[in-house]
Amino acid sequence: MAEPEKLQNYINGEWRNSKATNFQDVINPATGEILARVPLSPAAEVDEAAQAAAEAFQEWRRTPATERIQYLFRLKYLLEEHFEELARIITMECGKTIHESRGEMRRAIENVEVACGIPTMMQGGILEDIARGIDEFMIRQPVGVCAAICPFNFPGMIPFWFMPYALACGNTYIVKPSERVPLTMQKIFHLLEEVGFPKGVVNLVNGAKETVDAILEHPVIKGISFVGSTPVAKYVYARGAANGKRVQAQGGAKNPIIVLPDADLEMTTRIVADSAFGCAGQRCLAASLAITVGEARHTFVEAIADAAVSRKVGYGLDESVQMGPVISWQSRTRIERLIEKGMQEGAGLLVDGRNPHIPGYEKGAFLRPTILQDVNPASEIARTEIFGPVLGLIHVNDIDEAIAFINSGQYGNMACLFTSSGAAARKFRNEAEVGNIGINIGVAAPMAFFPFSGWKESFFGTLHGQAGHAVEFFTQTKVVVERWPKEWSRQF
Ligand code: NAD
Repeated sequence: MAEPEKLQNYINGEWRNSKATNFQDVINPATGEILARVPLSPAAEVDEAAQAAAEAFQEWRRTPATERIQYLFRLKYLLEEHFEELARIITMECGKTIHESRGEMRRAIENVEVACGIPTMMQGGILEDIARGIDEFMIRQPVGVCAAICPFNFPGMIPFWFMPYALACGNTYIVKPSERVPLTMQKIFHLLEEVGFPKGVVNLVNGAKETVDAILEHPVIKGISFVGSTPVAKYVYARGAANGKRVQAQGGAKNPIIVLPDADLEMTTRIVADSAFGCAGQRCLAASLAITVGEARHTFVEAIADAAVSRKVGYGLDESVQMGPVISWQSRTRIERLIEKGMQEGAGLLVDGRNPHIPGYEKGAFLRPTILQDVNPASEIARTEIFGPVLGLIHVNDIDEAIAFINSGQYGNMACLFTSSGAAARKFRNEAEVGNIGINIGVAAPMAFFPFSGWKESFFGTLHGQAGHAVEFFTQTKVVVERWPKEWSRQF
């Protein structure tokens, strides 16, 4: 059998073999096949990328914004041309279904489209005559070399929450993909090469903790965007800030949804099942707890159990499959342990998705949808991020109790409400202490022209990814106060 391909880094406009002593297997979680080997690049390779990006910055920041976005227009068309291939790569390395991968790439492309508006979005402001004969204006300038450190669950989309805006604003860039899913960015960097960005403007460094630490320590790197688990987000935020960098760090989640008795049952069940079990529960916006209020309990529990049992699980490249595997066997074991823990804490196993048999995919890291019922709101399982296809059911008496429970949680990524009452919806969106709200929506993912607004332990920083927040993050403001006495001007 042929040796799996060793992936390269892309630095200063060329593909380079890594001098890493450690390589990690990239495994298709559905088949167990080794797709490639990824280098865990040492600090010296981060340094090469940072130096190349710093050199490229001087010319790139002076390139007119209208010219910079021409590169993004070309990128958009190449992403469209390679759309299907990219979706297949995501499914193969990450496990989600081909439909989910297509959705992911669509979201990535939307960010490129929005960043093409930078000549308008990056504008500053001016006020004439702040005192007699004196004008004051604010301009935005790029920050310098910036970097993204990415998680495994959206290998195509998440770098695009940041990179297109950074580049359009005149920064140069380094992407460090998750070492578990490096193939999507490998392909996208071939497209970036085809776009023809000047050398050093975009760089790819593969790796894990050592590579991340080198990014956090490098004096040339001025801005860091991180997405991943909360403990690592906290670490990246603290260490990056201690080194004088601006950092935006998105963390984990435990997303609750409330079902009121007046909700449309058929619609609610379909949407909640998609949210809880879509992407095998590995979305940072996956519904993890369904809180039924009053009478909703009886109708909803039966319907959601049916939806869980009937979900078709298998290899995501099969168009009829509705749920793929989780990312790895290690992850599957961790999730199964958490299910057991939930049961030890008193929850009942309404639907058991452990140890499934998926014919032909015995090496795959599969679980089927699982539902824990009567989860005690005070138990640990009600607070722990599971990041797998497991939905916990909690029952409360009224919406106030449900909102109080949500607000007592450590995370604040998303909360949703299912109802036909406008008044309940208004109360909920006003009082819930989370950054992304869904009303009769199960995955309240902000479009590219809104910020992805996590709160509490789901986000560390002030400016989020996407759109206007990204423009703020990737620029620094400069204020100019200017006087031109009349007598200095030649009269024409
Ligand atoms: P992770 O924290 O394990 O890894 C994220 C990145 O950090 C990777 O690039 C990895 O190489 C690096 N890393 C891991 N451990 C490190 C360490 N000790 N020191 C330095 N760097 C380290 O996250 P993951 O498992 O890849 O992704 C899943 C997590 O990401 C979940 O918690 C999920 O909720 C979260 N997530 C959040 C959002 C959001 O928008 N808030 C979006 C997607 C995923």
